[in-house]
Amino acid sequence: MRFADIIGNTEVARMLASMADSGRVAHAMLMYENEGCGALALALAYVQYLNCAAPRDGDSCGECPSCRQMAKLIHPDVHFVFPVNKGPKSSDDKPTSESYIRYWRELAIANPYFVEADLQKAIGIESKNGLIAVAEARSVITRLSLTAVADGYKAVIFYLPEKMNQETANRLLKMVEEPPEKTIFLFITHAPEKVLQTIFSRCQSIRVMPLTREEAARVREMNPFDDREDYNSFMELFADLMNAVVSRNLMAALECGDMIAALDSREKQKAFCIFASECIRKIFLVQQKLPQIAYVSEEDKEFYDTMADRCGKGFCMKTITNIEKVVAMIDRNVNSKILFCDLVNRMFISV
Ligand SMILES: [Zn+2]
Repeated sequence: MRFADIIGNTEVARMLASMADSGRVAHAMLMYENEGCGALALALAYVQYLNCAAPRDGDSCGECPSCRQMAKLIHPDVHFVFPVNKGPKSSDDKPTSESYIRYWRELAIANPYFVEADLQKAIGIESKNGLIAVAEARSVITRLSLTAVADGYKAVIFYLPEKMNQETANRLLKMVEEPPEKTIFLFITHAPEKVLQTIFSRCQSIRVMPLTREEAARVREMNPFDDREDYNSFMELFADLMNAVVSRNLMAALECGDMIAALDSREKQKAFCIFASECIRKIFLVQQKLPQIAYVSEEDKEFYDTMADRCGKGFCMKTITNIEKVVAMIDRNVNSKILFCDLVNRMFISV
C-alpha cells in the first residue's frame, strides 16, 4: 500500500510521510478512526514508506523487495495483532493472531478498509467476542526480541487495542514504553475511551478523519457486499433523540426509539447503533477536552458542545455499554421495539 493508494485522509498521510522524512518517528502511535475509514491502510502505507529502499516524492516505490513483501503482508519485520477467539479455523487451544494470520492477510489485501465484523467473519468467530489475550503479549515480545531481518524498522500493527485486557497490557507496557531500537507500535482503535490508560498515555494520538460521501463510495466499491447506511438520516434521528433526552421530553424520546425499531432490517438497526455509539463517543471526547481526536465538523460543533455540556459525566460510558448490549440482543432476535424503548429509558434516566 502506497500513500498514493489511500482514499481520503490526505492530511494524515502527509503528516505521516513528513514524520518519517524528519526522522522523528514516534515509537508508539494511536490512530483513532470510525470503522472503515482507512487507519489500517494508512498504517500499512506508513510502514511501507519507512522501510522502502527507494522512496521518492514522499511515497514508497512499490517495487523494491521490502515494498513487495509489504504488498503481500509478509514482511518479516512487520507483525500484526488483532482480536481472536477459539473457532473452527484454528485448532490452537489458545489462539493468537498468528493462528489466523493467513485469513488476516487475505482480508486486508482484498480490502484494507474492512470493518471488525468482516474480520470476525474472515477468521470464523462471528458469534464470539474477539480478544487480545496474554498469549498474544508473549508472542509479540518473542517476535520483537528477534533481530530484525532487514535493516529498516520493526513494526507491530495492533488492531483494536481496546480488546486487550489488563494482564496483556501489563506485559506489553515495558516494550511500548522503551521499545528496542527502530521498533514502532501502531495501535488502531475504534474506541479510544476503552484503551487502557497505561497504553493510551504512552502514545502519540492521531485522528483518522471520517470519509466524505464520495470517498466512502470509493471504499464501498472495494467491498460490494458492504451495505453501509445513509448517515444523514441517522444523524437526524440521533439528534432528535438526544435533544428529546436532554430536554426531558420522554414522549418525544420514546417516539425516536420507535423510529429506530421501525428501521426496516436488523442490519439497519445495528448500523444505527454503531453510528450512535460513534456520536456518543464524540460527546465523551468533547467532555474530556480532547477535541483533537473527537473530530467534530464545523456544522455539528454546536450540537456536540451543547450535548457535552448537558449530558452528565457517566452518561456516555453507560450509554455506549447499553448500546453494545442492544446490538448483542438484536443478534439474539429480541423484539426490537422493546429493546429500543428500554435503551431510550436508560438514556433518559442516566443523562
Ligand atoms: Zn520500495
